[in-house]
Amino acid sequence: MPIVSVNNLHKSFGALEVLRGVNFDVEPGETVIFAGPSGSGKSTLLRCLNGLEKIQAGEIIVDGTSVHAPNTDLLDLRRRVGMVFQSFNLFPHLTIMENITMPLTKVLNKELDEAREIGQSLLKKVGIVDKVDVYPDNLSGGQQQRAAIARGLAMNPHVMLFDEPTSALDPELTGGILDVMDELSNSGMTMLVVTHEMGFARKAADRMIFMDGGVIVEEGAPSQLIDNPQNERTRQFMHQIS
Ligand code: ADP
Ligand code: MG
Repeated sequence: MPIVSVNNLHKSFGALEVLRGVNFDVEPGETVIFAGPSGSGKSTLLRCLNGLEKIQAGEIIVDGTSVHAPNTDLLDLRRRVGMVFQSFNLFPHLTIMENITMPLTKVLNKELDEAREIGQSLLKKVGIVDKVDVYPDNLSGGQQQRAAIARGLAMNPHVMLFDEPTSALDPELTGGILDVMDELSNSGMTMLVVTHEMGFARKAADRMIFMDGGVIVEEGAPSQLIDNPQNERTRQFMHQIS
C-alpha cells in the first residue's frame, strides 16, 4: 500500500493551471526527489500534499487520509506530515528548544519535561544540541535549518516534505543538512524532497521525478535521470544544472 497516492491532480491559481494532471505513488520508507525548472509546480505540489492548497480536480491520499475530502481534519494530517521549507520558518521570538517544545505542549498536550527530552534528543540528532537556549537570529542558516528539521520531526511524522531545504544556504553549509537528511532517509522515513542537489539524489533517493509545466515528464532511478535522461526537457535541465 502506498503511503502517498496522487491521482489526476489539477491545481489552478485563477486562470493559471499550475498542475495539469499529476499522478504518482510513494511507498512507505521511500525517498523521492522532485526536480524541474522554476515555476514547474514543485512547491505547489508539496503544499497540496499537506492541504495548504485547495485543488480543482483529482485526489490525494496521504497516510490513509483523503487530503481534500470535506471532513478531513487538516491539523491532524499536518501532525503526521512534517514540512521543511527553504526559508526555515522558525518562530523568531522563541529559543531553539522552545520552537520544538511549543507545538509538543500546545498541540500534542505533552508535559514540558517530556517535550524537552524529545527536543534534546532531536537537537542531538541534527547536531545542534549546544544551541538549545539560543534564538534563531543568532544561528547560521545551516543551524536554523537543522533546528527546523528537528521541529518537523518532533511530532513523529509518518511523511516528511522538504522544499529546497538547502537552496537558501551558503554552499559550505549545504552538505551538513544533506547528511542529516540522508541519515533520516536511511532510518526509514518516507521523504518527498524538492532539490537540485544531484549528489544527494544519487546517494539518498530511491526514485526521481522530473516535472515541467505542471506535469511529470519523466521518472526513474536518479542515476538514470541524471546520466541518461530519455526526455529532451529532462536532458536540457540536467545539462543546465550540472
Ligand atoms: P516551483 O516550486 O516549481 O518553482 P511553484 O509551485 O512555486 O513552482 O509555482 C508554479 C506556478 O504557480 C508559478 O507560475 C507561480 O508563479 C504560480 N504560483 C505559485 N503560487 C501562487 C499563488 N499563491 N498565486 C498565484 N500563482 C502562484
Ligand atoms: Mg519552489
